[in-house]
Amino acid sequence: MKTITSIEEMRKWSRSIHFSDKVIGFIPTMGCLHEGHLSLIKASIAECDFTVVSIFVNPTQFSPNEDFGSYPRVIDLDKKILQSTGVDVLFHPERKDLYPDKFQTFVAVEDKTKYLCGKNRSGFFRGVTTIVLKLFNIVNPHTAFFGEKDWQQLEVVRTMVRDLNMEVAIVGKPIVRDNDGVAMSSRNRYLSEVGRALARSLSQALESAQARIKQGERSAETIRTEIRKTIEQNNGTEVDYISVCDPENFVEQTEIHSKTLIALAVRVGNTRLIDNRVIERIQCNE
Ligand code: AMP
Repeated sequence: MKTITSIEEMRKWSRSIHFSDKVIGFIPTMGCLHEGHLSLIKASIAECDFTVVSIFVNPTQFSPNEDFGSYPRVIDLDKKILQSTGVDVLFHPERKDLYPDKFQTFVAVEDKTKYLCGKNRSGFFRGVTTIVLKLFNIVNPHTAFFGEKDWQQLEVVRTMVRDLNMEVAIVGKPIVRDNDGVAMSSRNRYLSEVGRALARSLSQALESAQARIKQGERSAETIRTEIRKTIEQNNGTEVDYISVCDPENFVEQTEIHSKTLIALAVRVGNTRLIDNRVIERIQCNE
């Protein structure tokens, strides 16, 4: 595996692959790799000729009161993990190169970012789309892989790519969970033992909601209330949002009859966790 830190060198490598008509798969990450990241990497290795993984903790997607400073950075361990996977290039750029002095250009997707994670995290999606666009411009991949754990982020990136006529295919892959049902996340490291037990309530609440819909419950408000009850019965959790919405535009639903996204963000102690489930149309109509 080649580690590249320079933007110019990354471009040069990518140009040589394009020249040989081979396909580049790309997985942008913030590091502290886990099985969720690895599922995307495996998909890229299976589907593409070459795979590039980037590790960059992107400052522009954190607001001042968030965990940019303490976000886990374990680059040596990440390199070891990547070496055993068959990744061709680790792109590990420096902040000063991606955001030099006087940096002042951002790209923002408008409507979709007003809901869910965009509501209480101002600037978050603007930071995400800006860094993803920059990385796409540098790596120039044919295909990029994103996790459905960040469902809204995936939709926002798809929208940017469509609206700006970008030549990259966006592939979404399912959420990878630990044995106890908790969606894998680099932030799970922050959880205490008690916090970890509380974190289970997110996936449990989603699973119960899915079962209730299968049994015939159609009221979105009832589902929201039941999820809130499951999560708030534990001290130490604070709900940021519980949404039963359209999976593409994130408008809240009243009745559940078509494909539906159930998404939540919950603070467990100081750690903000997100999780979701998509209820397919067929499941609502059973
Ligand atoms: P991050 O390093 O958290 O920015 O995530 C990098 C990519 O990995 C994003 O596309 C995430 O959606 C994806 N990802 C993170 N956690 C998971 C998971 N548990 N299952 C699937 N994909 C994930």
